[in-house]
Amino acid sequence: MSTEKRFERTLVTSALPYANGHIHLGHIAGAYLPPDIYCRYKRLRGERVLFIGGSDEYGVPITLSALKENVSPQEIIDRYHAANAEAFARLGISFDLYGRTSWPLHIDTTQAFFKKLDEGGFVHKDDVQLWYSEQTERFLPDRYVKGTCPRCGFEDANGDECENCGAQYSYEELVAPRANIPGDTSTPVLRHSAHWFLDLPAFTDKLKAYLDTHPEWRANVRGIAYGWAEDLRPRCITRDTDWGVPIPLDDPDAAAKRLYVWFDNVIGYVTNTRQWGIDTYGDENAWEIWWKDAGTRALYFLGKDNVPFHAVIFPVMLMAQGDYILADNVVANEYLNVFNRATGQSEKGSKSRGNMISVRWILDKFAPDAVRYYLCANAPESRDSSFDWDEFLARYNGELCDVVGNFVHRCLTMTVRNFDSQVPEPGVLDEEDQALLDFLPRQLDEVADALERFRFRQAIERFIEMGRRANQYFDVKQPWVTRKTDPERTATTLYVCCQVVRALCTAMAPFVPFGAATLADIIGITLPTGGPEGGEDGWNAAKELWPAGSPLQKPTVLFPKLDKDEIALRAEEHERGEAF
Ligand SMILES: [Zn+2]
Repeated sequence: MSTEKRFERTLVTSALPYANGHIHLGHIAGAYLPPDIYCRYKRLRGERVLFIGGSDEYGVPITLSALKENVSPQEIIDRYHAANAEAFARLGISFDLYGRTSWPLHIDTTQAFFKKLDEGGFVHKDDVQLWYSEQTERFLPDRYVKGTCPRCGFEDANGDECENCGAQYSYEELVAPRANIPGDTSTPVLRHSAHWFLDLPAFTDKLKAYLDTHPEWRANVRGIAYGWAEDLRPRCITRDTDWGVPIPLDDPDAAAKRLYVWFDNVIGYVTNTRQWGIDTYGDENAWEIWWKDAGTRALYFLGKDNVPFHAVIFPVMLMAQGDYILADNVVANEYLNVFNRATGQSEKGSKSRGNMISVRWILDKFAPDAVRYYLCANAPESRDSSFDWDEFLARYNGELCDVVGNFVHRCLTMTVRNFDSQVPEPGVLDEEDQALLDFLPRQLDEVADALERFRFRQAIERFIEMGRRANQYFDVKQPWVTRKTDPERTATTLYVCCQVVRALCTAMAPFVPFGAATLADIIGITLPTGGPEGGEDGWNAAKELWPAGSPLQKPTVLFPKLDKDEIALRAEEHERGEAF
């Protein structure tokens, strides 16, 4: 691939989730599993890759949760940062660092970004009208004010956007505003407040030129980014709150305000890379090569709702710094909805509907590989998909268990029993043997090609296809029959099957790393775990023949089958709203 020649290392970020609630499967399918699969693949290749994640700990969602639970914002972020870091780890999401925007280092990074923008003349102060509560004596930014949508009449609309019809409007257009603060029964009034704005229009030409260099981006990202680029307006980057990064200006108006969470959120990637460099090398400057060297390929993974921030606003913020590289790709996924068995329809996952499935809940019931397999096979890549319990059962059991797991088990069991727990010495290879041996390296390339293009559904299908071909071969060769009549033929058949097992072990590792690690132990191979420093190319090593005489152990079940009754039980719990 041309990218491998152009770039020496890859920086992968995944959108920072708010630390005010548990991570759910919609998050995972959108912003975490795809980059994890990608990073695991790159590490297997021995390429240098750094995977950065973390919690988003400022902003209205945090302070609103704190207000509603009657605890401090710090208590909220401490609780959910820890819970989500644990959930990601249990699912095998392999961040090199899972950081926090509440770290003091983040104030330093964010303020440096702001100062540079300000010095460049890209920030200006302006007077705006905002909703204000006279009862609680405070401004009501973002979701602190609710009201009726001026477009569709939805009564639970936010201050400047409606979740029901998707409309965006200015604050004063909101009909029948009310404060979204427990106990506040006053009617909000409009009041003047000074705020700071980022001059996005100044970057229109540069932004378009940047977008023009990336025709390979997904259509959903390009559509949204060009839509914004056609109509850039100055964007407010401050808020009336005391929970956030202080504005580094000597201005009395700045004291009671903080930088807007979406300004500091994306800078969190830089902070976390800085922290990773300090933790790993004790080097304050180790991060710079990942953000400023043209040999770095930066990739941002996120859900569709975050495209404007990653494909428009953050690039502008980086351009204004002068010495940062821009993302080579912004990989955004559509939404994972939830299939409702009662209505037969797919519906949006939402807290009010109570239909979301948290990672911690599902991992208490099911193995992480089962969840990862289904979410990747059913990934919302080019259109929305749905979590459907029957489909979860059918695809995991029918594909990963029956096709791959079963083949590996049959092959290894027969080899252990009949060939002294070693890869057999083959006899003369016939056409079918050779065809399958030729297929393996080609198919590993096909899986890799799909991963390089961020086609994760296609990649996992191609991996399963390896298992399908192997099963066909096994059924044609019938080693359980030839075992009694033709030991040499049986040895050759199982030798070829062992080669498939070896290739499958590597091919499955990005998708289902727990099963891959178990299998690697059984067959005595090492899967490279590389990382930021790179390492050996285990992917290409899997294309080489596994020598006869190599030892292997009695297999265990890599992917236990899901039970129909258990699935029905969990589906009912989910329907009762207990899966979060
Ligand atoms: Zn509306």
